[in-house]
Amino acid sequence: MLTEGTIIALSTAAGQGAIAVLRLSGSKAITSVDRLFKARSGKPLNTQKSHTVHLGDLMDKQSVVDEVLVTLFKGPHSYTGEDVVEISCHGSVFIQEKILRLFLDHGIQAAQPGEFTLRAFVNGKMDLSQAEAVSDLIASENAASHAIALQQMRGGFSDEIKKLREQLLNFASLIELELDFAEEDVAFADREAFIALLKKIESLLKHLLDSFALGNVLKKGVPVAIVGPPNAGKSTLLNALLNEDKAIISAIAGTTRDSIEDEITLDGIAFRFIDTAGIRETEDVVEKIGIQKTFEKLENAAFVFYLIDSTDKAQHQAAVEALAKINTQYPDKPLLVVWNKMDKTKDFTPPNDTHYPSLAISAKEQTSIDALQKHLVDYFQQQNYSDQTVLSNARHYGALNAALGEIIKVQQGIDDHLSSDLLAIDLRQALYHLGEITGEVTNDELLGNIFSKFCIGK
Ligand code: GDP
Repeated sequence: MLTEGTIIALSTAAGQGAIAVLRLSGSKAITSVDRLFKARSGKPLNTQKSHTVHLGDLMDKQSVVDEVLVTLFKGPHSYTGEDVVEISCHGSVFIQEKILRLFLDHGIQAAQPGEFTLRAFVNGKMDLSQAEAVSDLIASENAASHAIALQQMRGGFSDEIKKLREQLLNFASLIELELDFAEEDVAFADREAFIALLKKIESLLKHLLDSFALGNVLKKGVPVAIVGPPNAGKSTLLNALLNEDKAIISAIAGTTRDSIEDEITLDGIAFRFIDTAGIRETEDVVEKIGIQKTFEKLENAAFVFYLIDSTDKAQHQAAVEALAKINTQYPDKPLLVVWNKMDKTKDFTPPNDTHYPSLAISAKEQTSIDALQKHLVDYFQQQNYSDQTVLSNARHYGALNAALGEIIKVQQGIDDHLSSDLLAIDLRQALYHLGEITGEVTNDELLGNIFSKFCIGK
């Protein structure tokens, strides 16, 4: 990937807006704006200080294209590390395109997707995992994914990984030095300190890997399953949950999306109801949910509502058995037993014969739906995702997992008194995988993959 030349792109969303921002980055950014911009102050930009804003006209030969504000960032104190100029113009699509064309005609290149952030990475303004977090931050649609992306963009776990990798690199060098003195049988690397470092890295990696399950579901929307026997009221409950949220969503003009159908946001966390099409088609014999079908849904769910019709005695016993089976197969799956139709059983007390917490509701009358939502939200908020580093990127998960494998191999190797040359091989692998996360180890294909998913202008 090239990061040469001066680039330009529209950095605000495409389409008409109150204002629009075009951004330039590169060695010719300032001089090329100077050629088209007539500042009110009469002074050219290249004589101005960094981090200043200037009012003036953007000219196409003798005619004014727009009255604009120009913000100047001189490298290396800019987002990309290069000279950056941002032009805030009036947000007409015509003006945006006209300005863009003017600069392209003056030899400035159109930026590729993510090219500004790629340059920031190449110029050492941020590491690779921070660059990826920028894209996550832009895409974040709720408080949870926003908190996770912000953490990561501010350094999150990458600083710690970098520090530990450096220490590990020192040991790798010492161990490789031992190879040169193999005849003399000397040990340069202090084995005890080395083992302590490996343990420390192992524990950090395990901690981060564990957080991925939570990070991943919070980023994509927590998959929730509503299961239970036919006629328990699953689709009625789903509608009760969704309708409430839809009212809020449609009140904000322009936010309605088709995919919102089975998704709700509660206290900043997005919840997705999985396989809900099946719930709506309960008349269909095929969809009558047996234990088999229930288990398939459980597999993918991060939270489960097990619904029981409290007026149906036959469902009680079946439920107790089903819940015991679920508990055996998925001991850690968070689940709430929901006794439905309490409007028909006024003095009903939920039996306490399962491992799970329970709640009585009426889906039809919408009684205690708020308590049910609170139970769901509380469960995820108790995980404190906004205070701690949570892994949410599958690429990082893969690299950390591979690094952990190598770290464990090295420790095993030490226990088995493996020779230094063999230890060194596993160590190099561990260093490689750790370096992949922050971008100390990288290649064009990897960078292409990551940055092509960015929007143009970022
Ligand atoms: P599903 O098969 O589990 O999806 O169940 P449905 O949601 O289709 O509900 C089955 C029947 O129970 C329907 O006739 C609903 O109107 C009724 N129902 C659902 N929830 C309640 C409730 O809270 N109270 C009462 N009285 N009826 C309910």
